[in-house]
Amino acid sequence: MKAAFTKFFTFLAIILIFNSCSEDIDPLLGRDGALYGVGQFGNQLLSANRFSRLEIEVLYMEGYRPTTQMINGMQEFLEPLVNKPGGIQVIDREIPAKGQDTYTINNIRDLEREHRTLYNQGNTVTIFVMVLDGNFSRDEEETFTIGIAYQNTSMALFGPRIHMNTGGFRRPSRGLLETTVALHELGHLLGLVNNGTAMVHDHEDEEQEKHCDNEECLMFWQVETSGLFGFLGNTIPQLDENCLKDLRANGGR
Ligand SMILES: [Zn+2]
Ligand SMILES: [Zn+2]
Repeated sequence: MKAAFTKFFTFLAIILIFNSCSEDIDPLLGRDGALYGVGQFGNQLLSANRFSRLEIEVLYMEGYRPTTQMINGMQEFLEPLVNKPGGIQVIDREIPAKGQDTYTINNIRDLEREHRTLYNQGNTVTIFVMVLDGNFSRDEEETFTIGIAYQNTSMALFGPRIHMNTGGFRRPSRGLLETTVALHELGHLLGLVNNGTAMVHDHEDEEQEKHCDNEECLMFWQVETSGLFGFLGNTIPQLDENCLKDLRANGGR
């Protein structure tokens, strides 16, 4: 009799453990849900199938607070593109300066792990944006990177590159430059071009993969590099019709 009881309780315990584990293991949520490749969350970010709300956590190192133009610009950019009936919310917060001249992708991933607090949870999908106080380690003398998308819901902007190249004679304003680059990186998180979100019509740049072949489109490759200064006018480039069609076909609106 006693043995039967023990067996029964062991059985019950196994069921309980199994249930509590299976609840935690949703590969789209928590830290695990933030470890996919760039563009792999195109559909989750665009459609309301799995996530009906979007939260964006913007962290900036001391001295590199982004402009309100960029903060509001990200929300205004996404609103007409994504299906999020629960709304889009942007939260921004300062983090301590790190003081490195350059950052590798691994440095950036470590900083994300240390400071990111919002992860996908319930019906909310999250995006992480970090403004660093140094430049990208892979920069060359002539060409440099202003922003990168490096994981499915993660992107970084290089603050000194933005500050050095804005707000003077014949230079773009800081708001214009950083908003343009931030929106380009958001485009990559949405799966553009041909990187997580399939193309309706072929428009991927033959030499610069994952970018649009239209020089006037926000997803033209030079938009995230020093090449941007050659053509950035007074307004933020828009997504062209080909890019918009791709987003709609992958659950956007
Ligand atoms: Zn790009
Ligand atoms: Zn395009």
